[in-house]
Amino acid sequence: MKYVSTRGAQSLGRFSDVLLSGLAPDGGLAMPEFIPTFGPQELEALRGLPYPELAFAVMRPFIDDVPEHDLRRILHVTYAPDVFHSKDITPLTPLGTSGLYLLELSNGPSLAFKDIAMQFLGHMFEYVLEARDERLNILGATSGDTGSAAEYAMLGKGRVNVFMLSPHGRMSAFQQAQMFSLTEPNIFNIALEGVFDDCQDLVKAVNADADFKARFEIGAVNSINWARVLAQAVYYFKAYFALNLPAGTEVDFSVPSGNFGNVFAGFLARSMGLPIGQLLVASNENDVLYEFFSTGVYHVRPAAQVAATSSPSMDIGKASNFERYLYAITGNDAPQTHGWWQEVGQGRPVDLRGTPHWDAVKASGLRGGRSTHTDRLGTIRSIDERFARLIDPHTADGVLVGERHQRPGVPMVCLETALPAKFEETVQEAVGRTPERPERFAGIEHARKVFEVLPNDVNRLKAYIAQHLQAAQRS
Ligand SMILES: *Cc1c(COP(=O)(O)O)cnc(C)c1O
Repeated sequence: MKYVSTRGAQSLGRFSDVLLSGLAPDGGLAMPEFIPTFGPQELEALRGLPYPELAFAVMRPFIDDVPEHDLRRILHVTYAPDVFHSKDITPLTPLGTSGLYLLELSNGPSLAFKDIAMQFLGHMFEYVLEARDERLNILGATSGDTGSAAEYAMLGKGRVNVFMLSPHGRMSAFQQAQMFSLTEPNIFNIALEGVFDDCQDLVKAVNADADFKARFEIGAVNSINWARVLAQAVYYFKAYFALNLPAGTEVDFSVPSGNFGNVFAGFLARSMGLPIGQLLVASNENDVLYEFFSTGVYHVRPAAQVAATSSPSMDIGKASNFERYLYAITGNDAPQTHGWWQEVGQGRPVDLRGTPHWDAVKASGLRGGRSTHTDRLGTIRSIDERFARLIDPHTADGVLVGERHQRPGVPMVCLETALPAKFEETVQEAVGRTPERPERFAGIEHARKVFEVLPNDVNRLKAYIAQHLQAAQRS
C-alpha cells in the first residue's frame, strides 16, 4: 500500500515511512492511495476473531511492508489481556435494555482510549527503529491524556526518549501524578510556565528549526499519525461483532470528539464495509464540528476563543484529522483539499452548501451533536441512576448525543474514552461521590514526582533537550 498527501499527489512511501514522519512536506496528512473493502462474506469471516487477530485482518491491507509474522507478533504483544485488563481488550457493555451500549476503551495503562493506538505505536516504533538502526526523540505537548498514554507506551523502549511539555500546575492532580511519577530514564516531563497553547507553540518552534530537528532526531506521536487512526478502526469492528446481529444489520456509534481522530477511524471502518448507520460526532461547548455538520460551513476558531470546559480533552478549535475526512468525501481530490486548507489557514470559512460535497457529507453517515457542562453533569447523574454505572465527562458528551439520535431497534454504541477516575472533580460534582479508582493507582498523588519546570522560552527548551541527550550518549 502506498501513501499520499491530502494536499498533493506526492508519494509518502509505505506504512513504516508514514509511521515515523509527521506532516507531509506539503503540510498535508498521510492517506492510503485507496481504502480496501471487505465484502459481506469476508466480513462474516472476521466474526468471533480474538482482538489481535481481528486487528491483523483489519490493518494488514494497509501495512504490507512488515513481514506477516512480525506484524502478528507485535499485535499479540500489544493487545494482551494483562495490558488492557480484559480478555476482550475492548469489552462492550449494554446499559440495561435501553439499546445503548458502552464500548470500553479505557482499561489500559493510562485509563483513556488513547492507549489503544499508542501502545501499538510504541511496539511498532521499537520494531521499525531497530530494523533501520535509528533512534527517535519524541517531543510533544499535552493537556493530560495524550502525554500519559504516550509515556506509558514508550516506557523502557531503548531507542525512544519522550520529552513531554505540559502547562505547569494546570492538569488535574491525577493526570499530573500519572505522568510525573514515571521515573524511567527515557521519560522527560517538562512543566512549562504557560498554558497548553504555549506548550504547543514551543513544540512547533523546535520543529521549525530543521537543523536541530535532524541533529537530535526529533519526532512526534500526535493524533495526525496515520498508525493511530488505523489502530482505532479495529474496535469498531470488535464492537459490531460483539453485538452478534444477523449479517448486514446496521449499528450506530457515538464518539466524543476533539481532534477528529477517533471518529475518523469509525469513518474508515464504515468505508471498509462495516455496516455503520449513523456515526455521531459529539462535541462539547467547542462546537465547530457541530456547526459544520448542521450548516455545511466549517469555520475554525482561533486558540484564544477555545473555551476551557469540563471535558478538557475535547477543547479544540481546529480538528486536525478533519482534513482527512474532507479529502475522502471529495473522492481523494488533493487540489480541492489544498484549496480549502489555505482558506482555513487564513481563518476563512469553508462553505460546502449547494455543492456535491455537501451531499457526500450527508451520505457519509456523520452527524454532529453538542453538549454543555449542565448537560454533561445531568447525563453522568442519569446514567448512574438508571444503570448504576459511572461514566467520565467526555463519555457523557457522547452518551447524550447518542441518546438524542437513537433510532428504534438500532443499537447505539457509545465510546467510553476515559474512566471517571481520571476526572474525579466533575464526577463528584455530578453525583456527589468520588469514582472508584483501579487498585494500581491508589495513592498515586503521594508517589515521588520527577519533572523539570522550564520558562516559556524555546532556547531554554532546546538547551534542555540537547543537554539530556548528550548526557545519555556519554553514559
Ligand atoms: C483525546 C480524547 C478525546 C478526543 O478524541 P479525538 O480523537 O481527538 O477526537 C475524547 N475523550 C478523551 C477522554 C480523550 O482523551
